[in-house]
Formats: sequence, C-alpha cells, structure tokens
Amino acid sequence: MKAFVKLAAGAAIVLTMQTAAFAKDLVVGVSWSNFQEERWKTDEAAIKKALAAVGAKYISADAQSSASKQLTDVESLISQGANALIILAQDSDAIGPAVEKAADEGIPVVGYDRLIENPAAFYITFDNKEVGRMQAREVLKAKPAGNYVFIKGSSSDPNADFLFSGQIEVLKSAIDAGKIKNVGEAYTDGWLPQNAQRNMEQFLTANNNKVDAVVASNDGTAGGAVAALDAQGLAGSVPVSGQDADKAALNRIALGTQTVSIWKDSRELGKRAAEIAIDLAKGKKLDEISGVQTFNGGPKHVPMKSVFLTPIPVTKDNLNVVIDAGWISKAEACQGV
Ligand code: BGC
Repeated sequence: MKAFVKLAAGAAIVLTMQTAAFAKDLVVGVSWSNFQEERWKTDEAAIKKALAAVGAKYISADAQSSASKQLTDVESLISQGANALIILAQDSDAIGPAVEKAADEGIPVVGYDRLIENPAAFYITFDNKEVGRMQAREVLKAKPAGNYVFIKGSSSDPNADFLFSGQIEVLKSAIDAGKIKNVGEAYTDGWLPQNAQRNMEQFLTANNNKVDAVVASNDGTAGGAVAALDAQGLAGSVPVSGQDADKAALNRIALGTQTVSIWKDSRELGKRAAEIAIDLAKGKKLDEISGVQTFNGGPKHVPMKSVFLTPIPVTKDNLNVVIDAGWISKAEACQGV
C-alpha cells in the first residue's frame, strides 16, 4: 500500500512537471486592435499573468486601429513562433485570411471579446447583448420618455450591433408607444471618442439641443458625448450610458455626468482566454474547453464554440462594487466629488 501511495505520488509529480515543461515551451501571440484604449491594458496584464503562471511566453502586436496592419501583425506573430493566437479583431471580416492562415498551420485562434465568425476559432467574450440591455435599462430608468440618441460602436465590430440590439429590445415598447423618439443614431468609426463627440455635436445641432438621453455603447464614446453635452451646458442633466468601467467613466458616474457603465471584469476574461489558448495549443479540441457552449447569433449564424462571462452594471448606487473588487480606488473614483 505504502509503495503504491509512493508510486502514485511520484507519478503525479512527474505528470505535473511534464505539463509545466510543455506549457513552458509555448508562445502565445496576442494581436490587439486598438491598444491605446484603457481597458485593453487590464486585459493584457491578466493574460500575461496567466501565461507567466505556467511559464508560457507572451508576444504581442498592436494594429493601431488598422485592419490591414492587423493582418501583417498576425503573420509576424506566427513567424515569431506563436503556438496559439489571441486576436482582438479590428474588423471581423478583414481578419478572415489571418485566421485561415493560422488554421492551415494548425495554430489555434481565440477570438477575444469580439466575434470572428470562423468555426476554426474559439470565441470568448461577455454577453454583449445583455450589456446593451443593461445600458438601456439604466438610461430608461433615468429618462422614461423623450428624445434619445444612440452613439453606437464601430461598424466593423460585431459587438456594436449586439449592443444595439440589446438596447433596442429594452426600449422597444416605449418607442412603439411613442414615448421615446429615436432622434439620431450613428456608428462610431473605430470606437474613437473624438468621432463620438462629433456625432453627438451633430445630433445636438440637428435637434436644437433637445436631446433627453444618450445611449452610448462604451465609456470612450460616452466621454465624447459628455464633452459635446458639456459644451452646451447639458452635462449632468442628460443621462448617458457606457461600458468598461474605465476610470474616467467611474469618476463621471460619481460626479453625475454619466449614468451607468457596465463592468466587465477583464481580469477574468484575460485569464480565461490565456488558459484556453494554452489548452488549445496543448491539443485540446474546441468543444473540450471547460464551460463551452455553442453560439450562432452572429451575422452569418456560424456555430461558434464559445464561453460567455457575465457583465455587471455600475451606477452611483453601487460604485462600491468596483472599489471593493480592487478595480479602482475610492480616491480615484470619487475625485472632485
Ligand atoms: C468591447 C468594448 C470596448 C470597445 C472598444 C468592444 O468590442 O467589447 O469593451 O470598449 O470594443 O474598444
């Protein structure tokens, strides 16, 4: 018995060492679309931490909002020896050839946060339609009737339409009843705050400043919308949504110029994506990933093996959620309050 126990314990040790040694040889390449945005830095830290925990190597590239640069970035990550790729796509269609190339070379791809509708890729994200619902619910609570504008995300990012569909689902009955009027709706090229600000300025001008609520799809675009409202003396009196729990947005919530942000704990998303990339690089099949489900809600209804995490709305009433989770300090969130 003793000998058996000894052997079993020894075997377990050998196994663990082999696994670690294998992961240690792995290189995970991460292709970012627009790394300048605050949230991706948190995602990156989580990915790096999870890879370091198993001794795997992190390499990365930033496409700087260019779909064509992202194609060459992915090629370069492959030529640098990436055994698995994590891709935050700038343009879900344009990235296609890069995914095909990786698939041809047997390199697994994890579509990170944004859908890449190719069944060879894994898809990990938060429930984006639910994010849209949460945004609209809070704005609706603050302004149950009036002129609404929609500052949507980038048209090349499927999340933009997932979010919008969730927003409209919540507002539909009020729109149908004539209580809410959609007085302006525009995609935000590249999700860039300055483009959101320009769109918001145009909506304000077109409606003689009679805008009662802004459903903005993320915190960057919310910042642009709030700047445009501020220039007209309207910041704080018009509800505005966002998402990402960016520091500036949480501060706006504390100050009262933004109504809600949706917190998606990207520390968790990054960790899970890194673990999945390692599992796939070690030979696990897409449908062997823990918690896997099939999603076919993309524009082409391709069945995708996916994992979804749960978002959390943050308003003035529950700002403590992000503070308690160590996401932001109280001093940072409440600066100037
Ligand atoms: C992400 C958001 C992010 C936006 C802009 C979306 O795909 O889900 O969290 O704010 O891209 O980068």
